[in-house]
Amino acid sequence: RREELAALRGQPAVTLDGTPVTLLVNVSTAADAVAGLAAGAQGSGLIRTEVAFLNTRHWPTRAEHAAALRPVLAALAGHRATVRTLDFAPDKLPPFLWGTSSRHRGLELMLDNPHALADQFAAILDEADGAQLRVMIPMVVSVAQLARCRELLGAAAAERGVPAPPLGAMIELPEAVESVDELAAAADFLSIGSNDLTAALLGLDRRDPALTPGRIAEPVVLAAVTAVVRAGRRHDRDVSVCGDAAGDPALVPLLLSTGCRTLSAAPTALDEVRAAVRDTTLEPGE
Ligand code: PEP
Ligand code: MG
Repeated sequence: RREELAALRGQPAVTLDGTPVTLLVNVSTAADAVAGLAAGAQGSGLIRTEVAFLNTRHWPTRAEHAAALRPVLAALAGHRATVRTLDFAPDKLPPFLWGTSSRHRGLELMLDNPHALADQFAAILDEADGAQLRVMIPMVVSVAQLARCRELLGAAAAERGVPAPPLGAMIELPEAVESVDELAAAADFLSIGSNDLTAALLGLDRRDPALTPGRIAEPVVLAAVTAVVRAGRRHDRDVSVCGDAAGDPALVPLLLSTGCRTLSAAPTALDEVRAAVRDTTLEPGE
């Protein structure tokens, strides 16, 4: 079965009724990026930059960011490369952040340390040569946060005399779903972090074994996903799903039925996801 699926890598990710779907890969390392492109991904929808720094004892410096990003972005040359800023979280917290109590750690911690965010933006811009760069912010709850990020990213781009890349917001907290219309207007693209969003909407800890990708099918979660996709459409923004639900072939028809047309999944999931897309028939209007 694995070999059979791998043999179909050259085939497009299109539903039986002819709707094209963009498949992207979630990566933490250059090897993930290489494997994802080999499996037919059109680029990366999520580069998890914090993974390289889980044992670090200080905010990564610009040079450390650059060294970690360089091989990943080089592997993605010519393709979409969606770099997510550091998303330290209770389940992935380096020693220097032990004992901090910010609830939405990813973004709030960085906005509390704007020099750390500015250093990461600088490194991203310095290493992006050749890739179709996008920058994505995790754990966004407000337009003000996104505006602050845009200011810092714009300053780093202006310093280099390069255009600022598209800036996207992850929608993975209930507060973000509540203001998704304003966030969609303020962002250049949106990506649904179904792992955190499902956990938060169901009141589960992110590490709870009961938190499976399939729980995205619960009405409260599915309604949120649908609302995000619709807001994206109203504002003509790309909306992807990049949580583990996007890598579960059994959930592909459900995700596509929300109107979502971009899925970003682990490299090992892509063959099955593509096969599931090619087996799906969408109803008119889906
Ligand atoms: C998510 O929350 O679904 C997501 C893609 O981000 P992470 O798993 O890195 O929190
Ligand atoms: Mg998340």
